[in-house]
Amino acid sequence: MTFDLTPTAAQHDLAKRAHEFASECIRPVAGHYDRAQEFPWPVLEEAARRGFYSPLFYRDLIGDPTGLSLPMFMEELFWGCAGIGLAIVMPALALAAIGRAATPAQMLRWAPECFGSPGDLKLAALAISEPEGGSDVRNLRTRAVRDGDDWIIDGHKMWIGNGGIADVHVVNAVVDEDLGHRGQALFVVPGGSPGLELVRKLDKLGCRASHTAELKFNAVRVPMENLLGGVERLEESLARKREARGNGRPGSVTLGTFEQTRPMVAAQALGIARAAVEYMSGYASRREAFGAPIIDNQAIAFPIADLATSIDAARLLTWRASWMAANGVRFERGEGSMAKLAASEVAVRATEQAIQTLGGWGYITDHPVEKWYRDAKLYTIFEGTSEIQRVVISHALGAALDRPPLHVDLEPSGGSLSKLFGRGTVFRGRVADAALNARDRVPVPVLNFASRVLRPPR
Ligand SMILES: Cc1cc2nc3c(=O)[nH]c(=O)nc-3n(C[C@H](O)[C@H](O)[C@H](O)COP(=O)(O)OP(=O)(O)OC[C@H]3O[C@@H](n4cnc5c(N)ncnc54)[C@H](O)[C@@H]3O)c2cc1C
Repeated sequence: MTFDLTPTAAQHDLAKRAHEFASECIRPVAGHYDRAQEFPWPVLEEAARRGFYSPLFYRDLIGDPTGLSLPMFMEELFWGCAGIGLAIVMPALALAAIGRAATPAQMLRWAPECFGSPGDLKLAALAISEPEGGSDVRNLRTRAVRDGDDWIIDGHKMWIGNGGIADVHVVNAVVDEDLGHRGQALFVVPGGSPGLELVRKLDKLGCRASHTAELKFNAVRVPMENLLGGVERLEESLARKREARGNGRPGSVTLGTFEQTRPMVAAQALGIARAAVEYMSGYASRREAFGAPIIDNQAIAFPIADLATSIDAARLLTWRASWMAANGVRFERGEGSMAKLAASEVAVRATEQAIQTLGGWGYITDHPVEKWYRDAKLYTIFEGTSEIQRVVISHALGAALDRPPLHVDLEPSGGSLSKLFGRGTVFRGRVADAALNARDRVPVPVLNFASRVLRPPR
């Protein structure tokens, strides 16, 4: 279980293909879909043709034990345009929730319905937030009540990506009033279900190519098999929660989904941030004021250097979190939230600085930086606001106070031989000292051999 930054050949190719797709098919039309606030169907079709819009593609990336494929893909896609990127990856958020909660049979039933196939695309939505409760899951008021072999869902959802136009809505609802937010379950509500009402498409500041909606569930009836995980597993989980009531962890499927998807969302923000830094660096090198390129001024150059540093730091956090998620290492110190916090905050700073660097040109729509600024702002709000990430991190740190840092806490790799003979061990230190002390007596070939063993890698 080693963390390695070297991309595999497949990851290298994936990032290259995703970048080509973003620069050939997304960037050229990003301005249009942003202005028109129109869903980018042709781009989704092209994504599907290129293999980027299918459940197996995402399951494959999620299953990558290095954890790096998914963030690499996301960063390239969102470098193109975050609004179009969201339209493309929204079903993957729903799929992540299905993947955590569903039985294998349900997974096989619903995963293809989330994406469809080229020429017959489908959409999926993950409907969690409500007008009274985005951050605070205790305020969720949507209820599901059993009625014979069906469930009846009543409630109100807000800010739902693909809401009302999706073929599959994964919806959380309280099923046990006594347990409140701990007594939730996830349901699949197919598009067009009677009682599922698209109240309105929301008019957004940024990410305008993606569809975001307010929904109502007016006595929406779904069959028993649409309860993800099945009724038996639900009963067991409710019984466990009743027993554990009052002892701390919320442990709902919904919260688990957000934890898992945070590195994915962080990588999206990094795509926007990187686009902005690249753009402003190029502009500042070309734009002349007072007889020299503006990049020659430290007031322009230093913020760019600071941002590039912060982006790389955020990327490392993101890849670490993604690697942890892929290897089942729990985010006990809030590592997923750290990645999302760092990446979304740097995206806002980078896009704002890009506008400043372009001056008046940055403030008008001739250049994409004002759009990126509007797009980036979403990232400090959705999938947990920056404040909520700080709450999660600080609570996690409090709970892990008696634990050493992650790199000391993790199970070591390399086995007992590494512990005895690896770099920094007592054995190697003694050999080095002995070799140095004996340098006048030991034949040169032996000394050369010892120094080859002990020297740093070239
Ligand atoms: C464009 C867009 C797309 C979205 N897509 C989806 C989607 O597909 N599915 C979905 O379910 N949801 C979606 N959301 C909802 C999003 O996740 C919520 O808006 C977000 O979680 C914040 O919740 P809220 O808006 O209710 O803000 P609130 O929870 O009301 O927070 C308001 C402010 O108070 C702060 N605050 C709240 N509690 C604390 C605290 N304890 N300490 C410090 N500060 C606090 C918040 O940080 C924020 O600044 C989307 C939102 C947007 C804008």
